[in-house]
Amino acid sequence: AEQVSRQAQKSEAIGQLVAGIAHDFNNMLQTATMSLSAVLDRPERLANDQRRMLEYAMEGVRHAAILAKRLLGFARVHAYQPELVEVRALAAGIEGFIQQSMGPGISLLVDDSAGEYFTFADPHSIEQALMNLCINARDACDQSGPIAVAFGRMSISDDVASTIRAPGEYVTISVSDEGSGMSAATRERLFEPYFTTKAEGKGTGLGLAQVYGLMRQWGGFVDVQSQPGVGTTMTLAFPRAGSNAAGEMNEPVEISAPA
Ligand code: ADP
Repeated sequence: AEQVSRQAQKSEAIGQLVAGIAHDFNNMLQTATMSLSAVLDRPERLANDQRRMLEYAMEGVRHAAILAKRLLGFARVHAYQPELVEVRALAAGIEGFIQQSMGPGISLLVDDSAGEYFTFADPHSIEQALMNLCINARDACDQSGPIAVAFGRMSISDDVASTIRAPGEYVTISVSDEGSGMSAATRERLFEPYFTTKAEGKGTGLGLAQVYGLMRQWGGFVDVQSQPGVGTTMTLAFPRAGSNAAGEMNEPVEISAPA
C-alpha cells in the first residue's frame, strides 16, 4: 500500500510539472500565433513561397498548441470527446504539412485508393500519432527515400484476440519506410517512455510512448513489422465505427514478431 501511495504522489508531481510546462508553452505559442497572423493577414506583401512557408510555420504552431492542450488534459485526466472521423481524408488534409516536416529528399506517398475508413476518435490524436510515425520513418531512412502511408481494414477474430486486441473490425493507417529497421532489442522496448536509440538531443523517446497511449485511449493498437537493414512498417489500428472492437484497454501493447 505504501508503494502504491508513493506511486500516486509521484504521478501527481509529474502531473503538476507537465501542466506547468504545457501552460507556459501555450503562452509562448500564443505569441508566435499572433506574430504569424500579423504577417499572414497582409498576404499581398509576401511572395508566394514566403507565404507558404509562413503557413507551414503556422500549421506547426497549431499542432504544438493542440499538443500543449493535450498535455494539460493529460495532467488533469481530461477526457477527449471522440467524433466520427474518416482517417484517409484526415491524413490527406495534413499531407502537405507532413511532407514539409520531412524535408527535401523524402517523398511522402499517400495512398489514394478509394474507400472509406471511419472510426470514433479525437481527430487531433490521430494526426499526432501519424505525425510521430512519419518523423520516426524519416529519421530511420537518413533523409532520403520514400515513406508510404497506406490505409486498410483489419479483422481480429476471437481466436487471435488478446487483452490489447479486442475482437472486431479495425481501420488502419500504416507508415512504411525503407530505413534502418529495428533490432529485436529495440522492438521490445520502443513503446517505453524515454527509450530512444537516437543521438542525444535528437530523440526524447516519448514519441511512441505517446502514440501507444493515444491508441489505447481510443481502443486501438499499434502493430510493428520491422527488419534490420530492410525497413519498418508501423500500423495504427482504430476500431471501425459501428464494429464491436471498442473498449478500454489497459494491458501493455504486444509487439508482434518481425515478418
Ligand atoms: P524517439 O523518436 O525520440 O527516439 P520514439 O518513442 O518515437 O522516440 O522511438 C523510440 C525508438 O524506436 C527510436 O529511437 C528508434 O530506435 C525506434 N524506432 C521507431 N520508429 C522506427 C522506425 N520507423 N525505424 C527504425 N527504428 C524506429
